[in-house]
This record gives sequence, structure tokens and C-alpha cells, in this order.
Amino acid sequence: MHTVTIKPQGTRLKVECRIYPTKKDMHAAAHKFSGSIYSNIGRKTEAYCECTPSLLPRGFFAVVFFYEKGMTNGILAHEMDHAAQGLLYRRGHRQLPISIDTATPLEEEHCYILQDLVDDFMRKCSLPMYA
Ligand SMILES: [Zn+2]
Repeated sequence: MHTVTIKPQGTRLKVECRIYPTKKDMHAAAHKFSGSIYSNIGRKTEAYCECTPSLLPRGFFAVVFFYEKGMTNGILAHEMDHAAQGLLYRRGHRQLPISIDTATPLEEEHCYILQDLVDDFMRKCSLPMYA
């Protein structure tokens, strides 16, 4: 497993990305990490973002699970969107129907729109920096 720790501006909290060799490894790790308290880690789960504070290591606002062959720029954007919305929730924002538990339908819709935008951009952009 590879880990990448991200420290965004404007917060003392970090995000840890855990990248597993296979989807099976990622699912097992995500289930173990979350204690299987959420039912949203299924066979179709391509990545998973956990924002529930009681499950996280101290100093983190999200732990995100990926597997190597399942990563696209869009999936990365999707999970980081969940992390960002989790941070907004922890900052006390309640204007959006967002959650630190199971993602709300609107949160999930936002994440999928961002994922599709990024993946389609990456497919169509021919600038050398994106090749
Ligand atoms: Zn999602």
C-alpha cells in the first residue's frame, strides 16, 4: 500500500490517501477501517472516502481508499470532493445537504458531476501537460 498525505491550505487537518494494489485489498481495508458501520462499500465501490471523525486518526479530516488500477483523475476528484464536503461539514457549514457519514444524494450527485467533468476533460484535452 502507498500512502499520500495532503495538507490543504486553511486547515490544520490533513487527508490521508491509501492506495492498495487491488480492489479486493481496498475493500477489505475500507471495511476494516470503518468497522463496517456503513453499507456503502460494495462490489461496485471504486474508491471510498471516510470523514467520520471518530474513525479517523488524530489530525485528519478524511482517509481515502483507492486501488491502483481503479484510479482515474475523475475518481480522484470525486473522492476529494467528498473530503472537501466533509471538511465543510466539520467547519459547521449546514447550508448544503452534506454529511460526514453516508453521503447524501446531492453530495453524491455533485461528486459524480465533478468526476465526469474531469474524466471527460482528460480524455479530450490534447495539451502536452495532460498527455
Ligand atoms: Zn461518492
